[in-house]
Amino acid sequence: MPATASLIDRLTSLVPAGGVLADPASLFVYEADGFTIARARPAAVVFPTTTAQVVAVVKAIGEAGVQIVPRGSGTGLAGGCVAFENGVIVSTTRMNRILAIDLPNRVAHVEAGVRNIQLSDAVAAVPGGAPWHFAPDPSSQRASTIGGNASTNAGGIHTLKDFVSSNHVLGLEMVLPSGEVLITGGQNGCYESGHFDLPGLICGSEGTFGIITKLWVRLVPRATNFRTVVGMFPSTADACEAVSDVIAAGMLPAAMEMMDGRMIQVIEDAYHFGFPPEAAALILTEIDGIPDLLDAQAADVTAIFNRHHAFGIQTSGDPARRAMLWKARKQAFGAIGKISHSYCTQDACVPRSMLAQVLRKIDEIGREYGLNINNVFHAGDGNIHPIFLYDDRIEAEVQNTLAAAEKILQYCIDLGGTVTGEHGVGVEKIHLMPYLFDELTMAQFVAVKHAFDPEERINAGKLIPSDKVKITLLKPGRQAPQ
Ligand SMILES: Cc1cc2nc3c(=O)[nH]c(=O)nc-3n(C[C@H](O)[C@H](O)[C@H](O)COP(=O)(O)OP(=O)(O)OC[C@H]3O[C@@H](n4cnc5c(N)ncnc54)[C@H](O)[C@@H]3O)c2cc1C
Repeated sequence: MPATASLIDRLTSLVPAGGVLADPASLFVYEADGFTIARARPAAVVFPTTTAQVVAVVKAIGEAGVQIVPRGSGTGLAGGCVAFENGVIVSTTRMNRILAIDLPNRVAHVEAGVRNIQLSDAVAAVPGGAPWHFAPDPSSQRASTIGGNASTNAGGIHTLKDFVSSNHVLGLEMVLPSGEVLITGGQNGCYESGHFDLPGLICGSEGTFGIITKLWVRLVPRATNFRTVVGMFPSTADACEAVSDVIAAGMLPAAMEMMDGRMIQVIEDAYHFGFPPEAAALILTEIDGIPDLLDAQAADVTAIFNRHHAFGIQTSGDPARRAMLWKARKQAFGAIGKISHSYCTQDACVPRSMLAQVLRKIDEIGREYGLNINNVFHAGDGNIHPIFLYDDRIEAEVQNTLAAAEKILQYCIDLGGTVTGEHGVGVEKIHLMPYLFDELTMAQFVAVKHAFDPEERINAGKLIPSDKVKITLLKPGRQAPQ
């Protein structure tokens, strides 16, 4: 049922002035997230500033029979916060207060709209806080919200050692689609056992259970002693095998990131870091820990790199060099904007030992569909990110991108991989869920969704298929702005 003017009036009365957008020019910004192929104009965007306002807003939208669509900063890469079927977006970005930083118990209490980096910066600024931080570090960390990170179970560059968001979320406050407020999990750093791990279940639920309004998250030590080891490789196969061998040797680097030759060139052209043009691949490894052990570990990594024909290997313990290298890595997606009208970042996870064969297949599929595909990814986790370059003004290129992405994902699943390593399912990969999971598992997923949202009032048609809202991206004439 479309949102009516009376619903928009009611929403306007529930939040502070300026807290509802409903004019087409403002709504344009909210038609998509980072996966710009999935587009739909919401009926309105609402910005509550308190949990009580979220409750009132959720009740009003639910009573109007309109879909509720939670949104953080909209950096998602799977269309999870796009409001199809004239839904109303509830944005948490104005709920951005850090409520408490409890250093003795290493817990922070935050509103859902606090940005990822905002928390670590605030922790570093309190007396005695410098050694601590919130560890999940998606490359979007300057923009993405902690509520969004929890909802997508975001990973990041240091996932290899620090794991994903669910390992750092202790407790949550969430407004259910009924308007009830669920507070679950730990709040003071105590570990909990003997009951269902609801925060763990909610992490990764992609806004399909409710709207997260507050979180209690772990603060863990920042790495202070580290070495970065950068190596260039003559082929992506050599680089992939080097990654696999480092992990197989029993080492646990804090991060192992890889870029292919095309991506190295893009970054070099944009930022001039001095990477050699002949490199077909680059691996950026970070080791942290006890200072006396670091040089020996860096030497072990270098020896493995050398076995795989690496050149230009540089090891450093210099914080400025480290910051520069991570900047290069985190700005990779931004640099793509210089060479392509549009791009789509894919995401799947495969066993590390299969990375070389997966990259070969990606290259083959790219040639089959006439697409340039660049790769920059979390190699240590086996988490690939092929980046498709295309032009969204040309429908055939959009369709080729979707078809090629589907083929790559199916290949990864066939090898025993997963449909997403960190970006989530959203609408982008929903049709592949039954390809990965059997009927019984899918039925259990639906049963869990219905335990939180029996009437499918919130984000229906995302993550798991719904009879209520169906979005098909794979055929021409996909959902376009109304
Ligand atoms: C340049 C770039 C780099 C990226 N790098 C990484 C990376 O390294 N690792 C990684 O994991 N991801 C990465 N991402 C993807 C994205 O940043 C993450 O998925 C992030 O967690 C999304 O946060 P957000 O606040 O932008 O959420 P949104 O995009 O607004 O929403 C994402 C999903 O969460 C739901 N949601 C958001 N807030 C709430 C809430 N309060 N309550 C309930 N549901 C909610 C939405 O409905 C949607 O389904 C990257 C994206 C970009 C553009």
